[in-house]
Amino acid sequence: MPNERPSSEEQDLITGSGFRFDTQYTQLPSVFYRLGDPSHAPQPKVVVVNDSLAQELGLRLESLASETKAALFSGQILPNGSIPFSQAYAGHQFGGFTMLGDGRAHVLGEHLTPTGRRVDIQLKGSGRTPYSRGGDGRATLGPMLREYVISEAMAALNVPTTRSLAVVTTGARVLRDQPLPGAILTRVAASHIRIGTFEFAAALDEPKHLRQLLNHAVDRHYPELARASSPALALWDVVAKRQAALVAAWMRVGFVHGVMNTDNVTLSGETIDYGPCAFIDSYAAATVFSSIDEGGRYAFGNQPWIARWNLARFAETLLPLIDDSRSRAVAIAEERLAQFQTWMNEAWTEMMRDKLGLPGQREDDRSLATDLLELMEETSADYTNTFRALSAAAVLPPELERARGWEAWRARWDARCERARGDEPGAAARDRMRHANPAIIPRNYLVEEALDAAVESADLGPFQRLVAAVQTPYEEQPDLAPFQAPPPDSFRNYQTFCGT
Ligand code: AMP
Ligand code: MG
Repeated sequence: MPNERPSSEEQDLITGSGFRFDTQYTQLPSVFYRLGDPSHAPQPKVVVVNDSLAQELGLRLESLASETKAALFSGQILPNGSIPFSQAYAGHQFGGFTMLGDGRAHVLGEHLTPTGRRVDIQLKGSGRTPYSRGGDGRATLGPMLREYVISEAMAALNVPTTRSLAVVTTGARVLRDQPLPGAILTRVAASHIRIGTFEFAAALDEPKHLRQLLNHAVDRHYPELARASSPALALWDVVAKRQAALVAAWMRVGFVHGVMNTDNVTLSGETIDYGPCAFIDSYAAATVFSSIDEGGRYAFGNQPWIARWNLARFAETLLPLIDDSRSRAVAIAEERLAQFQTWMNEAWTEMMRDKLGLPGQREDDRSLATDLLELMEETSADYTNTFRALSAAAVLPPELERARGWEAWRARWDARCERARGDEPGAAARDRMRHANPAIIPRNYLVEEALDAAVESADLGPFQRLVAAVQTPYEEQPDLAPFQAPPPDSFRNYQTFCGT
């Protein structure tokens, strides 16, 4: 259904709200996207708008009435210069290759911020597209609020991520296992180019297209690589380094992405797709939250190996651009993958040095970290609170302190940090540790409570309090203490669901 024409007054207000579109993606060959407008929303309503992000983006939304914002963030009124489109891509999902595309998303365009950053503004849940396959193109309120709070928490935790600008309800009911309120999230991303976009290009069997995508991606994210002797290899290297840094950052804060399919791996190095993700409470490397991840493919401790697997798929797409001889290209790619392993190990170990406040670098730092993790796993220690306690000279989980091996580990740690037995970390180490070890993460049980209140009782209070609490994850504030509590015992075996 075509969108209602906005009043010229509304359009003028939106024109004055600061959107500056300059879209380059649609200069790619037309196989890479399809133009198309967001669907009709019968009664759009604002649930949340991210005012501080809007400000960063140079958007002036204050002068807009709530109904106008709802019309804007549901795609009923398009800002000047927006020509919406959906992107084509492919991807390996749980290991199997599929042709995909935005089945429920429309990119409004690439917006230029006041500092000259270029970001995609995308609506998610905005209706069917040519890539919807059997899907309804819709999203529901709970999962969109979930993406909002977790992505904003990740940003505050200093983990590279797409951002959330707004959530609106559409006024339509969306049928899942029961009818649920339809909703649309406005996502802001450095871009939506993914490993899956390259897999799509490689599957086209038209070498020109792959080369065009390479040039586009380099130009958008890493323009300095255009002059490299092999821009394809240089791009692979930088994407691999960003993945190593990203996965290390996830593991620093206890994040399990849950659906590390190649269509969910951005070239920018931002976390994308907050579907079945969740944060670990008690430490266990094998932790899986997603109900469909039966084999534990995307378990917490498996994330570095899955990143490598995904980067192997990325390398495969680039082979024709790496060398004319396929066997030579494969040999080069294999050598690069081995290199990734080193980068990943280094990123992980350095991250653990931050968490433990270890000065310099020593050969056995890795085993110091893994031995602590083993003790934590044995005693089901809370991941977040244990590291925070180590950095804040606070109370450790008693099970951990009683564990056989704890005293010996503690002595090794003290010796490694060159302080007397039992001394607390010095000021500099403590400061470093406090910036690596959050006090507040969006705990799964608090996220669920907040979403239940919002969806079932239309009470946004708990959601707003949670969003506020996760903005300052490294500060200790007495009134935020409830957000630091581990889950109640009744909240074990937490499960998350995909495709919601
Ligand atoms: P995701 O698990 O969110 O990464 O989604 C995988 C693919 O399924 C993407 O191409 C989505 O656009 C598509 N998809 C997910 N939900 C829907 C839906 N309700 N309708 C149409 N496509 C969908
Ligand atoms: Mg996805």
